Amino acid sequence: MHALNNEKLLLAWERGNKLREPWRALALLQLALPEWDHAALAALPLAERNALLLRLRAETFGDQLQSFAVCPCCSAQLEIALNARDIERQLESPPEETWQENGRELRMRPATSNDLAVLAQVPLELQPRTLLEQTLTMHAADNEIEESTDELPPAWLERFDRLNASAEVRVRVACAACSQQPLLDIDIACYLWREIALAARRLLAEIHLLARSYGWSEQSILAMSPTRRGAYLEMLSA
Ligand SMILES: [Zn+2]
Repeated sequence: MHALNNEKLLLAWERGNKLREPWRALALLQLALPEWDHAALAALPLAERNALLLRLRAETFGDQLQSFAVCPCCSAQLEIALNARDIERQLESPPEETWQENGRELRMRPATSNDLAVLAQVPLELQPRTLLEQTLTMHAADNEIEESTDELPPAWLERFDRLNASAEVRVRVACAACSQQPLLDIDIACYLWREIALAARRLLAEIHLLARSYGWSEQSILAMSPTRRGAYLEMLSA
């Protein structure tokens, strides 16, 4: 895993701007893991993908994540602080499950980025069902599976939740206002993208100032250490 250096950070922002999730998160990972091919990243269980995103975050911006959320119990604003490497270690995908039911063999695997991509074409209310059906394979003895419009069996939903629970980046936060300790989900792909976009814009603004004042190329400014770049910027604003 390579950290995103200045040049890759700008490339990540440029590529990511043109993409939607889940492809944006995969584009970020591909810059950090050039030896992986895109199809392999897209087929990773989401727990493993999120673990890689957390590692990329730690390598690029450091271990400590800070964010804000609203308390689901009392609507107070909460500050979230977590360690990316600690959370990364908790995200381990369980193996697929197989079982027999009414003479059929069923198999369910954890959801992947490929499955999320399918959801983009599906109305919001049908997305949970579609996601479950994407990850489920059925083999009937007579090779005929009736199409059912009924509710999905609760046992399937439980199995789906169990297989995918470890993909969530969750943190328990103590709310000082109401003394509850709500469990909050963090969308790590979205969080990392916002940080990359912010860092890229800051970097572009610095390049703009230095290039305009000194006539240096983008490449030579990008190659400077942040300390040296900061020193020149300080002199410019003095
Ligand atoms: Zn609260």
